[in-house]
Amino acid sequence: MPVQSLKEIVDRSFAERYGVPAINVFNDLTLEAVLAGAVAASSPVIVQTSVKTVRSIGAGLLAAMWQELTRDIPVPVALHLDHCPDRAVITTCLEHGWNSVLFDASELPVAENQRQTIEVVAEARRYGAHVEGEIESITGVEDDHGSDEESARQSLEVQLGFLRETGVDVFAPAIGNAHGSYKTTPVLDGERISQIVAAHPVPIALHGGSGLSDEQFRDLIARGCAKVNISTALKERFMQSELAFLEDARTQEKWDPPSLFRSTRDDVIELVVGFAEVFGSAGKAG
Ligand SMILES: [Zn+2]
Repeated sequence: MPVQSLKEIVDRSFAERYGVPAINVFNDLTLEAVLAGAVAASSPVIVQTSVKTVRSIGAGLLAAMWQELTRDIPVPVALHLDHCPDRAVITTCLEHGWNSVLFDASELPVAENQRQTIEVVAEARRYGAHVEGEIESITGVEDDHGSDEESARQSLEVQLGFLRETGVDVFAPAIGNAHGSYKTTPVLDGERISQIVAAHPVPIALHGGSGLSDEQFRDLIARGCAKVNISTALKERFMQSELAFLEDARTQEKWDPPSLFRSTRDDVIELVVGFAEVFGSAGKAG
């Protein structure tokens, strides 16, 4: 099974209407534990890296860890570059074996975004890789990327034109979702997803997944959200898990790093299994 293309993974989840967890990792422990969580749930998983993570760890080291950790993995996995406006970083990741990229030119006018997305799709195809596209910025700042201002939404006609002209494999429309933590439960425009999918059946990526209710996840996945991005929830679980462990270590005066890592790993695995169950991807690895 091991590493598959993004398209194989999301075309199946789109057809069968489940959501594949697409989780942003930020170090070796989270990379390994997210993969272990997918294996524990017998679920496909998309491992994502932000541009910030690629810059801080380096594409070469990330790719080496990825290859080693996925060599004999029994579930479908793909490595994806999240929100990347920088064409040079996209090229570097494709050269190092990333299976897909989100070219994020949502800050540019749609026509220029579309022109460049066509180029990125052509570049990715030379590596057998796939492309997620977006023409509306997702609200909120994540790993130094983005803005808290809600961006303008495009008409259905403009969205369909973009999908037709670029041939992107996955599309990420704005539906009232946001990166980071929601202060109140967001009101989401699921109808936008249904309209796009009815007119142009393309797997949809749901951004800003951390903090949505199980009902919201199920509704949006049923409408065609085949890739569900999770970033903030993992960061929070990681830090809170370590904090709780370290407070306990201080009380007990026991300072053993491997037990800290084991405890964090267990909590990350539990988080991934929980998402796979809600998204319906658990048990879909076969
Ligand atoms: Zn996002």
